[in-house]
Order: sequence, then C-alpha cells, then structure tokens
Amino acid sequence: MTGLSGRRAIVTGGASGIGLACAEAFAEAGAHVTIADLNGEAATAAAERIGGEAWQVDLGDTGALADLALEADILVNNAGIQHVRPIEEFEPERFALILRIMLEAPFLLIRAALPGMYERGWGRVINLSSVHGLRASPFKSAYVAAKHGLEGLSKVTALEGGPHGVTSNCVNPGYVRTPLVEKQIADQATVHGIPEEDVVEKVMLTESAIKRLVEPTEVASLVRWLASDDARMVTGASYTMDGGWSAR
Ligand code: NAD
Repeated sequence: MTGLSGRRAIVTGGASGIGLACAEAFAEAGAHVTIADLNGEAATAAAERIGGEAWQVDLGDTGALADLALEADILVNNAGIQHVRPIEEFEPERFALILRIMLEAPFLLIRAALPGMYERGWGRVINLSSVHGLRASPFKSAYVAAKHGLEGLSKVTALEGGPHGVTSNCVNPGYVRTPLVEKQIADQATVHGIPEEDVVEKVMLTESAIKRLVEPTEVASLVRWLASDDARMVTGASYTMDGGWSAR
C-alpha cells in the first residue's frame, strides 16, 4: 500500500477507540497527525506517543471550529457519542447536541478543509458512519439520524470534490470494542430488560456472521487504505465492516 508521507491528517475524537487506532495507523504510514478531541489530556498523551499534535476542542461548540481543518490533506470525522432511549423519553437538548457533534461539526470541518484541498488538487474526507448510517435500530434516534445525515453529506462532498482530486467516503462498522460500546452495555440492558452480561451476545452479535466485536485496528486499516493513493477512484462509497451483521 502507498504511504502517507508528507500528508497532514486531522482525526476528530482521535484520543480513544477507532480514532486513536486511525491516528496510530496514519503516523505509522508517515503522515503528520493532529488529534482533535474533547479530552485534551488523552489527546496530548496520544499525540506525544505518535509524534503528532493535540488540539483540545468541543465539537458541540460549533462556533469554535472554523480554523480547525484548514490545513488538512486528510480529514477523518470520527468523534461521536451515543445515547440510548425510546423517542418519547429522548431529551430534545441531547438530540440537538448529538446532531451538532456528529453532523454539523463534520459539515463545518469539511467546509473549512475543502478550499485548501482544492488548491493542492488532493484531499481525503473519511467519515466514521456506522451500520446505523444504513439501517436503523430502536432507541437510537439521534445517532441513527446523525449517521444517515452523514451518509448524505459524504456523497455530496464526493460529487463536489471529485473534479478537484478530493474523495469522500464513509466507513460503517458494526459493534467495535471501544469505550463507546462499553458504555452502551448498561443502557442496552435497561431498555431490553436483560442482564448486562448478556448484552453483547443477545443484542450486539445476534445478527453477525462472525460472532465477535470488531477491533479498532481493523477499522483503522480500512481508513488508512481509503486515505492512500491506491483508493483514488473510490469515492461516494460506504464500506461496512460488521462481521456480516448487515448481510442478513
Ligand atoms: P470512543 O468513545 O472510544 O471515542 C470517541 C472519542 O470522541 C473520544 O476520545 C471522545 O473524547 C471524543 N469526543 C466525544 N465528544 C466529543 C466532542 N464534543 N468534541 C470532541 N471530541 C469528542 O468512540 P468509538 O467507539 O471509537 O467511536 C468513534 C466513531 O465510530 C463514532 O463516530 C462512532 O459513532 C463510530 N462507530 C463506533 C462503533 C462502535 O461500536 N464503537 C460502531 C460504529 C460506528
């Protein structure tokens, strides 16, 4: 696979889970990586480890994002949160916050990054969507709405960016072994009325062909390929990595 030497990558939510694995994979491929994360301490520790930079930022504060991605050759919109509640109990403020972090912030970062990418004639936008960008599940209204919106935004970016050497794609994992999923286990146990120890097997993996959670490094290897020159004709696409969950 071609390397990423000399490329500047920004990974939102790069201090943990999938984003951290992407930041590590990019650094290993020779890119200069900026980790933009709410958790400044974890971002700084990770950046020091991989020889990159850290930027403490709250993507829910959309007024503060205009400058963040100006220099990026590779933009990975990865930061995300989850909240599991039936619609009638879902707090409207929480719904708005999830859409800000997971849809409006990616729009603002793409908007800031594109002019520089167009000028250089090369760019990669990679959006961490989910199987829930393509299919719904009950109790995840904001998450499913944000991810479906991100799919549309990614395709429009592909259409506008294509003539300028910019590709835009979504990656759609099933359940990945990260802190985000660990936090969901208690919520899922409550809404489904089952013990926490049964959630992975009885909720998360029931529809999978490969009966295990995805590893963050497995998602990062796909992201790294999408960022490479080998993937230059791949755009406007959505790549599931879900152990067969959506094949059923
Ligand atoms: P994670 O919880 O391990 O990491 C998310 C990171 O985002 C954290 O470092 C957190 O500090 C950061 N973050 C959260 N809110 C932020 C904000 N307001 N501003 C800046 N940073 C913020 O999560 P993960 O599982 O690695 O998920 C990463 C992405 O992958 C998310 O978009 C998620 O929806 C998607 N995804 C995850 C799974 C899964 O099973 N883990 C499956 C499909 C898609």
